[in-house]
Formats: sequence, structure tokens, C-alpha cells
Amino acid sequence: MNTLLDIRRIYVEPAAAELPRGKEVLARFPDATLVEVESHNRIAELYGDETNVARWVRIKREALVLGVKKTMTARPNGRSADFIAPSTANGCAMACAYCYVPRHKGYSNPITVFANIDRITQYLRRHAGRQGVKSAANECDPTAWVYDIGENSDCSVDALVSDNVADLVATFRELPTAKASFATKFVNRELLDLDPQGRTRIRFSLMPPGDAKLLDIRTSPIEERIAAIDDFVAAGYEVHVNFSPVVVRDGWLADWAQLLDRLDAGLGAAAKAQLAAEVIFLTHNRELHEVNLGWHPKAEELIWRPDLQQAKRSQNGSWNVRYRTGAKGRYVAALVDLIAERTPYCHVRYAF
Ligand code: SF4
Repeated sequence: MNTLLDIRRIYVEPAAAELPRGKEVLARFPDATLVEVESHNRIAELYGDETNVARWVRIKREALVLGVKKTMTARPNGRSADFIAPSTANGCAMACAYCYVPRHKGYSNPITVFANIDRITQYLRRHAGRQGVKSAANECDPTAWVYDIGENSDCSVDALVSDNVADLVATFRELPTAKASFATKFVNRELLDLDPQGRTRIRFSLMPPGDAKLLDIRTSPIEERIAAIDDFVAAGYEVHVNFSPVVVRDGWLADWAQLLDRLDAGLGAAAKAQLAAEVIFLTHNRELHEVNLGWHPKAEELIWRPDLQQAKRSQNGSWNVRYRTGAKGRYVAALVDLIAERTPYCHVRYAF
């Protein structure tokens, strides 16, 4: 088992333990202590205590939550994907400094896996069926309806704890008008055996390795992600890259040029022929900044830059920051130009 996970305690909703997927997950970790919970999203001992990072990294490694997904929706998105699929997991064993997932769910935020996978895949089949054939190409995909299956988790890590990701890949293999898509920062070579037949898109997130060392805590190194791309293409995945989050600092563009050169050198012809990218500049958040100052102030020097950023109050009342309007447009244009120069075969699906 990967060092990311050493599951010792499983918080389980009784209804989830009764389902076949629930039983399988419990059987994978026979030595774990089971703690019965009423609801997967109200477990006080997991989700509080946001300043104690040692505790929440331990929780990420040792705790798993097994629940039942209650509401099924496929939310229209239109940017990275046409729809956000109902999640089959949420939470994450990694700990990126900028991650927005804990903004919603508390800082330790271990993996919650949903056991009612059959209901979720049935819902997806019906939803995709109702859409019919995609009549107009868009930046999500020229012909397929794209469903993001990993909005609130990292599917490559989720696949270490259950077969939900395998079931999703198998579901989309049989949907000729739809495609699954997920971003990842972890290389899980077990996914190479799932035979996606082109109906699952993996987006490896990339940033200059120096930034990743500071920000992408507990993830696979950037070199390993680049080195995996050819193998995933050969295994039948569509592989794109997410250049995200892009962090502006002294020398950032020169480091991105180097990263693009490393990517170019690391890809074979087949990967290049199908490559596309999303470019997403960093956003951050005041509450997260304050928590991070308590455990990783060096990361904050990079990502909390009031001299470059502007704040905007979000719907839930917290303050989000992004690079200032005007300057941001220039940063985006500079990076998109650089991509066109260094990796001209890489179509940029969107950049913001
Ligand atoms: S891998 Fe993704 S979900 Fe996990 S901590 Fe990093 S940004 Fe968050």
C-alpha cells in the first residue's frame, strides 16, 4: 500500500456497510477499527481543529469515511467539463497549500468514499442518454459530453481505496457520446489496467517543480507525472495537462518555459498528437491563508501576495483573492504565448 495511506479507522454509515461496495472496502482494510456514524459529513473528531496540521495529516493517512451519496445531480459546468458528475468520493489524502476542498469541509478532510456506486453509474448512464449526441463542438470536447468525475477528490488516490474509479471508467467505456474527465496530482499505475478505450480523460496537473515542492504537499513529483503521460496514452486514456495553479512571482515565466521544455522532451508523438491544456491561475482565500501561516508560512510567501492580488467577497461571505484585473490578462497572454512557442501542438482549451 502506498505511503499516502495507512487506513486504521473507518467511519462508516450502517447503510454503506450493507452495500456490496461498502463490504469490499471494509474487506480491504480488515485490521481497521470501525466507528459507526450517522452521517458521513458530520464527524466532529475529523473535521475540526484546523490549526493542528500534524493531526490532520495523520487523519488523512489513517482515516477513511464510508458513506452513501444521497443527492444525485450532474451540475452544468461548461469550462473544464460540460457537467460535474455526482461525486463517488470527496476529500483527499494529499495536502496542497492552495486546495479549495478544505474550504468547504474542514482541514483534515480525509477521503470519504461512497458505497452506492451502482446508483451513481445508473444516474450517469441515464443523464448521458438524455443529452443525446453533442451537436456542437465546444472547448470541453468536440464531440463528447464531458463529465468531471473528480471535482472534490483525486481519483488516482481514490482508486487506492475502492473500485469506484474502475467502475466509472467501465461505465464511460460504454457511453459513445460521453467521456469522463479528472485532474490528478498522483500517479497511480494501477489505472493503466482499466482499459478506458479513449472514454476517460486524465488531466495531469503541472507546475514548475520548485513551486510544486513548496505547494503540492504529499503528491507525486512533477517529473513522475510527466513520465507517466506516454504510458497512460498507450493504455487508452486521453491525457491532457492542467497548468495549474499558475503562481506569479519573480522569474515565473522563465520557470514555466523550462517546464514546457521538460514536458516536450518527455512526450512521444502519440501523446503530443492528442494533448490539450487548461490554464488556471492561482486563487487563494483569506481563511486558508491564516490556517496555512500556522503550518507552512513559506508557501504563503508564494501564494499570498496582496501587492499582486485583489480580494472579492464570495457568496458564503469569505474573501477570495486572485491576481489583479489587467495585470492578470497580461500574465495569461504571456503564458499562452509561451505554450504556443514551446509546445505548439498543445491546444489551450481555456485559460483564466
Ligand atoms: S490533490 Fe487536489 S484535492 Fe488533493 S489536496 Fe491537492 S488540490 Fe486538494
